[in-house]
Amino acid sequence: MARSALALLNRPSAASPAHDEGAPAFALVDPAGPHISPLDLGITRGEGIFETISVSEGRPLALEAHLRRFANSAAALDLPAPDLDVWRDAIYGVIAALDPSPEAYVKTVLTPGIEGDGHPTGYAYATQVTGFEEARTTGIRVVLLDRGLKHDVARTSPWLLAGAKTLSYAVNRAAVREAKRRGADDVIFTSSDGYVLEGPTSTVLVRRGDELLTPGVGLAILDGTTQADLFAFGEQRGLRTGFALLTAEELAASDGIWLVSSVRNAAPVRELDGTPRSVDAEFTGAMNAFLHSREQ
Ligand code: PLP
Repeated sequence: MARSALALLNRPSAASPAHDEGAPAFALVDPAGPHISPLDLGITRGEGIFETISVSEGRPLALEAHLRRFANSAAALDLPAPDLDVWRDAIYGVIAALDPSPEAYVKTVLTPGIEGDGHPTGYAYATQVTGFEEARTTGIRVVLLDRGLKHDVARTSPWLLAGAKTLSYAVNRAAVREAKRRGADDVIFTSSDGYVLEGPTSTVLVRRGDELLTPGVGLAILDGTTQADLFAFGEQRGLRTGFALLTAEELAASDGIWLVSSVRNAAPVRELDGTPRSVDAEFTGAMNAFLHSREQ
């Protein structure tokens, strides 16, 4: 048993040859060891996809939604379709290898492997986590940053892969560093034509009266699993849920803003571009309790 665990997949895609014919579908290996070639396209080109899945009391949350999105991202990058049965087994395998803990996550990664050799690389890494209490209760300070793309970029330039969960997160990381330089914790991207998009690793959720809203589909943003589950939470509480094209002004005028994501869960925005905002502690607490106790 351990605080982290790693499974290497022997055949991450049914369409590709196994790394080792006859070997088991995945192998648990030392997470500290070197396992990936320096020539892997995931490293040399940032080519590949990933998912990060929350684990609560040993249960992977929204697992099927994550696996579906993983397959969609693979298709967007023309990667061979992941064999989801093998991935599911590997995810449960790394979770079983962890010491029991209230919270953990599993990260799944699929890359084309080494250029030309036809063997995709796939692994699932699990680790225990703590440390999100303050973001979930006190909240986070957020700045709006222009992503530099129009809101309809998915339609006009699908090759930009906006909305796929690719390994190319250097821009997302740079945006968070810019937020820190501005005295904030996180970012909400806007489109160059003025619409609210998403965070670098989160979905925007907005409360307006009895409505719980998120930026609309077709905006080249990631289809959030946490947001989908929080819509179910909102509906249980009698709120209307839906997608909306929101401007920065409409965002600022809303009753509540959260950045929601796997692992950190719901983080209320307590400051937007330097302007303090009130945080609904009861509603936020109920959101996070709901996320923690989801059945799957
Ligand atoms: N948007 C982006 C760009 C993300 O990277 C993530 C998660 O990492 C999300 C939204 C939230 O997705 P989920 O709730 O499925 O974790």
